Amino acid sequence: MTLALGSIPVKISRQRKTKNPCQICFLHQDLCICAVIPRLTLATRIVLVVHAKELKRTTNTGRLAVQALVNSEMIVRGQNKAPVNLMPLLQDSYETFLFYPSAEAVELSELVLVPRSKPIQLIVPDGNWRQASKVSTRHPELAHIPRVKISDKNMAPYHLRKSILPKAFQL
Ligand SMILES: [Zn+2]
Repeated sequence: MTLALGSIPVKISRQRKTKNPCQICFLHQDLCICAVIPRLTLATRIVLVVHAKELKRTTNTGRLAVQALVNSEMIVRGQNKAPVNLMPLLQDSYETFLFYPSAEAVELSELVLVPRSKPIQLIVPDGNWRQASKVSTRHPELAHIPRVKISDKNMAPYHLRKSILPKAFQL
């Protein structure tokens, strides 16, 4: 697909798969960034819940986040018909929250200001809106887990997916 940005035609590749990618960062071998991924040890535990389809995308940044965050985990859902059981995540050693912008969700920035006796575990659905919402609605084990969100004004600099781009720029 070619878009015209001003007078400059820009070739946009819709190819999603990389041939023979690095099995860790999933980028092309010549572009592998594994050697420079920082290793960060946080008290907060991050658990990414990723749909199998999403994981195949070269642009899946969740894969990189799990490499960078020592205290993190990735759970892949959608590999077979039975839903993944997320109950083992709900340990007493953490206070768990689900990253999901429901009506009652509290701002993440407010959450971190409250002193806590336990570290936070943040379950983060990774994927498009439809995939992410299924993590909230199809897992009864998460029904009582409080939801947290980042408001639009805080999200803007970090949200790069085309789904929020102005209509004129969508592919
Ligand atoms: Zn790599």
